[in-house]
Amino acid sequence: MNNPWISAKKQLKQVAKIIDLDKSILKRLSKPDRVFCFPLLIKLDNGQTKKFLGFRSQHNNSKGPYKGGIRFHPQVSKNEVMALSMWMTWKCALVDIPFGGGKGGIRVNPKKLSKIELERLSKKYIEYLFPYIGENKDVPAPDVGVNPQVISWMLDEALKHGLTKAVLTGKPLELGGSLGRTKATGQGGFFVLDELGKKINLKEKTIIVQGFGNVGYWFAKIAFENGYKIIGISDSQGGILNPEGLNPDEVLKHKNQTGSVKNFPLSKNIEADKILLQPTEILVPAALEGVINKKNALDIKAKIIIEMANGPVTPKAEKILEKNNIIIPDVLANSGGVTVSYFEWYQNKNQEEWTEQKVEEKLKEKIVQAFNHVWETSKKRNINLRMAAYVLAVSQVVNSINKN
Ligand code: NAD
Repeated sequence: MNNPWISAKKQLKQVAKIIDLDKSILKRLSKPDRVFCFPLLIKLDNGQTKKFLGFRSQHNNSKGPYKGGIRFHPQVSKNEVMALSMWMTWKCALVDIPFGGGKGGIRVNPKKLSKIELERLSKKYIEYLFPYIGENKDVPAPDVGVNPQVISWMLDEALKHGLTKAVLTGKPLELGGSLGRTKATGQGGFFVLDELGKKINLKEKTIIVQGFGNVGYWFAKIAFENGYKIIGISDSQGGILNPEGLNPDEVLKHKNQTGSVKNFPLSKNIEADKILLQPTEILVPAALEGVINKKNALDIKAKIIIEMANGPVTPKAEKILEKNNIIIPDVLANSGGVTVSYFEWYQNKNQEEWTEQKVEEKLKEKIVQAFNHVWETSKKRNINLRMAAYVLAVSQVVNSINKN
């Protein structure tokens, strides 16, 4: 089984070599500042008490408060949150926002809990963590399995303990959320694809999207609206293919009605993991980490991979793919989410409310700038785009460490 923490540390070691990183700083960055693993006991609707495991990893805060999502998923582990928190440190540095890296989660299948059980669990998580989070300490947000409703329950609990609304981002609008936050990750990913398209004069515009949650849906929708052809979509139950193109809004309607994208009219069903191997110009993994690995890398037909999920391509797979493929690394491709989270936090702290147009313009500015820096660094140093992104991000973090 792929261990994302090993991948994350390997990538850091590689970049350390390239930038000749000081040994003591490498040691410090090779582990999180702090990791919490804690039991969460809640009452189920049948009267029994059940224990869940909660996690929060705070990797580095040299550039600002720890920042990163909370994941509700049965496979959440200490290694996973540690890796994701390290990636958050690089991502925030790359898009130049004043945050460090954090990540958290609960090992749970949220679909198996009732609404009230999920509310109890979400509040318990904050009841445990409240002394260690805050608008200037650690600012969590949604990740896989966490929606704005979960964030509102968490906010309820946080406010009870004297924290301010800027402690959480991804809030519903009426509770201080930002316009444009829901679509931000997909939107940012699309800006990256668009810039890449200009650089390489992209003509063939077929896309397969693996994972049809917040990120996958918005990426697909925005790409579709901009003339790309979405020829395949999958979720955890299975996938669908249609070479004539799929309309993401219609697919979402079908998923909301039936629970899955499967059996969408006029399309062919395909097993969930097989969708990655179908012919397409652009492949967009938007579900979980490690899905493109040494076992399937040789069978990938796409020429461009946009990592909308965190860590979907393992280092071994990248080695196989990088000769013939362009891989846009997660720290760049999905950085739109945390960028608009920063805008939300900023608006909360300064009592401002930005229009959706302002959010979108500022997001585009940040993403396009980060993309061009990464592209140029990759060309200049003759390294792949991930290493280029890491060179820029780690150097920024090192500058902050040296200044502090
Ligand atoms: P989500 O819970 O909204 O959606 C996840 C989707 O993945 C669901 O449709 C689920 O059915 C699908 N999925 C799970 N296993 C699958 C499989 N084996 N094959 C196909 N689909 C599968 O989560 P999300 O917020 O969209 O996050 C997706 C990815 O993007 C994660 O890696 C997350 O860390 C990353 N990410 C999210 C954000 C954000 O703002 N939400 C920001 C940056 C990165």
